[in-house]
Amino acid sequence: MTGGVVSSLGKGIISSSLARLLLSRGYRVTIQKFDPYINIDPGTLNPYEHGECYVTVDGHEADLDLGHYERFTNIHTTRANNITTGRVYQSVIDKERRGDYLGKTVQIIPHITDEIKRNVKLLGNTGKFDFVITEIGGTVGDIESTPFLEAVRQLRWELGQNSLCVHLTYVPYLRAAKELKTKPTQHSVKQLQQVGIQPDILVLRTELEIPAGMRRKVAQFCNVSPEAVIQSIDVPTIYQVPLMMHDQHLDEIVLRKMGIEPQGEPNLEKWNIFLDKIKSAEKEVKIGLVGKYVELQDAYKSINESLFQAAVYNDRKLKLTYIHSEKLTEADVNEKLSGMDGVIIAPGFGQRGIEGKFTALKWCREHDVPTFGICLGMQCMVIEFARNVMGLEDANSTEMDTKTKNNVIDLMEEQKSISNMGGTMRLGAYDCQLLPQSKVAKAYGTTLVSERHRHRFEFNEEYRSRFEAAGLKCVGENPATHLVEVVEIPEKRWYVGTQYHPEYQSTVLQPNPLFIDFVRAAIDYAGEKEAAAKK
Ligand code: GLN
Repeated sequence: MTGGVVSSLGKGIISSSLARLLLSRGYRVTIQKFDPYINIDPGTLNPYEHGECYVTVDGHEADLDLGHYERFTNIHTTRANNITTGRVYQSVIDKERRGDYLGKTVQIIPHITDEIKRNVKLLGNTGKFDFVITEIGGTVGDIESTPFLEAVRQLRWELGQNSLCVHLTYVPYLRAAKELKTKPTQHSVKQLQQVGIQPDILVLRTELEIPAGMRRKVAQFCNVSPEAVIQSIDVPTIYQVPLMMHDQHLDEIVLRKMGIEPQGEPNLEKWNIFLDKIKSAEKEVKIGLVGKYVELQDAYKSINESLFQAAVYNDRKLKLTYIHSEKLTEADVNEKLSGMDGVIIAPGFGQRGIEGKFTALKWCREHDVPTFGICLGMQCMVIEFARNVMGLEDANSTEMDTKTKNNVIDLMEEQKSISNMGGTMRLGAYDCQLLPQSKVAKAYGTTLVSERHRHRFEFNEEYRSRFEAAGLKCVGENPATHLVEVVEIPEKRWYVGTQYHPEYQSTVLQPNPLFIDFVRAAIDYAGEKEAAAKK
C-alpha cells in the first residue's frame, strides 16, 4: 500500500478495511507499517509530531496506525508490524559491526533494501498469515521513502502474482472551476512508475463522487484496469470504509489479481450490527476529556475510538468535549465540567497542565461525576486524593517534583538506573488481578485481566494502607510484582483510575469492558440529573 499526492489520505484506514474484508472471508491477515523517519520508534516523539504513540502487547511503542489495524482486525500486532528507517539502519549497522558482511562495502542497495525486504517477509514466513499488507509511510516522491520503494519493486519481481500494489491518491475538487482534478493522481502514478512500480489498484480519495468516465480516464492514463480504480469518498465514520470498499469489489479485485477466485461474500454480520447501532443512536452521552494535547485530534486517538465504540454499544452518540488542562482553573471548572456526564483524565508526561488535572479531579470527586483516570490521569487521582482528602498537601509524583516528601507516585526501583529514554518504560501487556467486589471486576466480568502499559512511575506501595483507610481502594494489582494497577473510590458513582491503558485494547468487535462500563455509568448519571431537574 503506497500513497501519493499528499499525506493523511488514510492509507491506514484503507489497509485496515482491506484486511477486514479478507478476514471476513476467512483468510488470516496482518498489516505492517514502514515509517521512513530515523527515530527507532515513535516512543520518543512528541504527540505534536505524529499524534498518539500506540503500544503493542509485546511492548513496542508504535505508530498510531497500528491502533487502526487492531481496531479493524481484532488481531494483536507486535514489534514486527512497525518498522522505521532508524530500525532498519540500526540492524544493518549492528551486522556491519559484528562483521556479518565479510568485508563488503555496506550500501543502501543491496544492504538496506535487503533488510527492508527481510522485514516484509518476516511476518509471512511465520506461516500464521495468508496475506501481509505492508503500508509504506509517507508519500511517493519523498527522498526518505526511496529505499522502501526500491525494496517494493524488487519484492514484486520476486513474488510475482503473490504480490500487488494498491496506491492511494487524492483527487482534489477546485471550487472556483467546479471541477475534480485527476492530474495529481496521474503524476503520482508516474512517479511510482519511474521507480519501477506499476500499481495494480488505485484508490482515489475524494470529497465528491468521481464520475465513471473520469475513473475510466484515470485507468487509461495509469495502465490500471478500469474496475480497479476505486473511489474513497468521505463517509461519516471510518468504520464504514470496509463496506464502501466492498461495494466497489476491492476484496474481489485483490483476490482475482492474485489468482484466487473469490467464493461467496465476506461475513460482515457483527460489523454491520455495529454500523446499524451508529446510525440508530439518537441520544447523546457527553464526555469531557481533560488533557494538554487537546488541540490535536490524533493525540488521544485510541481513547477517542474506545469512547466512540463504548457509546455505540450503549446506543448513544458520543459528544466528546476537549478540555485544555492548562487553561482549566478553579474559576471556570464548574462552568466547563458541569455539563458533562462523565470525565476522562488523560495520560501524559511532565508538569505542564498538571494543575488543571488536579482541579478537574477535585471537582469531579466532590460532585460525584463518573470519572476515569488513565495512566497519568490515575496518578493525578492518587495525588489529588492525598492532597485534599488525606491532608498531605505536598503530595506529588517524583516525575513532577523530585524532592517531594510525600512521593505517593514514585519511580520504580528498576527505572532509577535507566538513562536511555527510548523503549525503556514499563511497556506492553501485564496481568492484573482485580478484587472481586470492585466496580472494575464487575465491568470486566472477571478478576484476571491483561492490559497494556506505558509509564515509568508507579503508585507508592508505602502509602497503600493510608489511602485505603481514607477511602481510595487499590482494587487491582500485578499478581507477580504487586504493583498497584487500579484504584477506585467505592462510595462514588464511578471513580476509577488505571495505571494501564485500556484504550489500546478496544476494537469494534471486542470493545473494552471498562470503557463500556464508564460510558454506561455516565448515561445513568445523565438520567439521574434529568430526573432531578424534572422534580
Ligand atoms: N508520566 C507518567 C509515567 O511515566 C504517566 C505516563 C502515561 O500517562 N502514559 O509514569
